[in-house]
Amino acid sequence: MLQGRHALAGWVPARFGQVDGEARTEDPVKKAAAALEGLLSERDPDAPVAVLGAGIDDLTAGRKYLATLAPGGFMVPTWPSEYGGMGVDKDGAQAVKAALSRFEAPDLYPWMVGIDLVGPTILVHGSDEQKLRWLAAIANGTEIWCQLFSEPNAGSDLAGLSARARRDGEGWRVTGSKVWTSRAHYSKWGLLLARYDSSLPKHRGIVAFGLDLTAPGVTVKPLVQMNKDAHFNEVFLDDVWIADSDRIDEPGQGWAVALTCLSFERGSLGGGLGVRRDQVLRLASMIPADDAVRRDAWVRDMAKFETIRMTDERTKASAKAGKAPGPEGSGSKLRGTALIKSLADLAMQVEGPAAAAYSGETDDWVKMFLVSPSLSIRGGTDEIQRNILAERVLGLPPEPRVDKLKAFSETPGAATAG
Ligand SMILES: Cc1cc2nc3c(=O)[nH]c(=O)nc-3n(C[C@H](O)[C@H](O)[C@H](O)COP(=O)(O)OP(=O)(O)OC[C@H]3O[C@@H](n4cnc5c(N)ncnc54)[C@H](O)[C@@H]3O)c2cc1C
Repeated sequence: MLQGRHALAGWVPARFGQVDGEARTEDPVKKAAAALEGLLSERDPDAPVAVLGAGIDDLTAGRKYLATLAPGGFMVPTWPSEYGGMGVDKDGAQAVKAALSRFEAPDLYPWMVGIDLVGPTILVHGSDEQKLRWLAAIANGTEIWCQLFSEPNAGSDLAGLSARARRDGEGWRVTGSKVWTSRAHYSKWGLLLARYDSSLPKHRGIVAFGLDLTAPGVTVKPLVQMNKDAHFNEVFLDDVWIADSDRIDEPGQGWAVALTCLSFERGSLGGGLGVRRDQVLRLASMIPADDAVRRDAWVRDMAKFETIRMTDERTKASAKAGKAPGPEGSGSKLRGTALIKSLADLAMQVEGPAAAAYSGETDDWVKMFLVSPSLSIRGGTDEIQRNILAERVLGLPPEPRVDKLKAFSETPGAATAG
């Protein structure tokens, strides 16, 4: 499937997004597709699609694919070229994405935290030295990252986290435990949040690091999920030393780093949540012609699918016009989650007892059915999204936040911290 790098020679990716006449007259999707031909194989439209990380991660295939795309910067087109990207604008990136979708691709779930969330966060908050050290290795697939945010007592209320960081010479010592850390078992790095000053209010006493997960004192324990996968982990940190050069942004800016990362996460989770139009259309062909009830259910879901798709188009257009992202991401996530649950449930009704014989390998809809409950939790729970909509769209009174201005050490969160 993958061939040499020479096929990229002569292709000038930085043309995308430029305003010179030549670049404007060419179709950028065709141009990108032409550059990718010879590197990748055409996509088989009937091939099963990856379901949100369900199944066994094929690190070899993913690394090979990313290494092939890396010289052209295709995987991260908006990143500057010195950090492994192409330095193009959003239109150029869309063109590359559209071109890539024509070709076969492995499941890139293991790399998505690095590529979609951590990399863009480092671009905003990292030092120049960190960008050079970390970004190209994310883009070319050699280093996988995870997100070390949630703790046993800090999930929805993430700012209540209690992993402790104390200064130690040229670095820091960190002790605490993280949980639900997707991909930690094969990650080289984690974007870590820890508390360095409990005398400050909870949002202000946080510092962010890039943590080398191979450092002494780091223990990673996989957790088995209901679909038998083991994608996420408990991560224990026992007096782990971190060089100050791995601190991301200033101490006290950790919450800003977290918010930046979460805004990229919401962006990547919004809209369709990984279900493709052709999958939904194929589901219709599985429903018997005389099953009026299920055909009616499918039509309702298809209408919702199209409504979500069009709303997302509007959101993209407003982002392109320079408007800051609003609460629409929360609405999109809620509707997308409800739709996937409904579609997966419908597919289970159509498949009937055959679905129970699921081997874990082939049936996209069974995978979707088993993964779908997690969509109501990951990236902010349904209840938290509804809170955002209630406060920011409906203008309802905010929840009481009595601990917001108090020193963390004086809050109930500190009392339960281990
Ligand atoms: C598949 C998956 C992958 C994940 N990957 C990662 C990862 O890689 N890194 C990471 O750091 N975390 C990860 N998480 C963790 C995820 O971010 C948290 O599970 C999530 O933020 C919820 O936190 P919690 O589980 O502690 O639940 P809690 O916050 O304890 O919530 C429990 C229940 O109370 C409700 N609730 C809480 N607060 C409110 C409120 N103010 N108003 C109304 N209801 C409320 C919640 O909606 C929920 O129903 C992952 C989770 C899942 C499911």
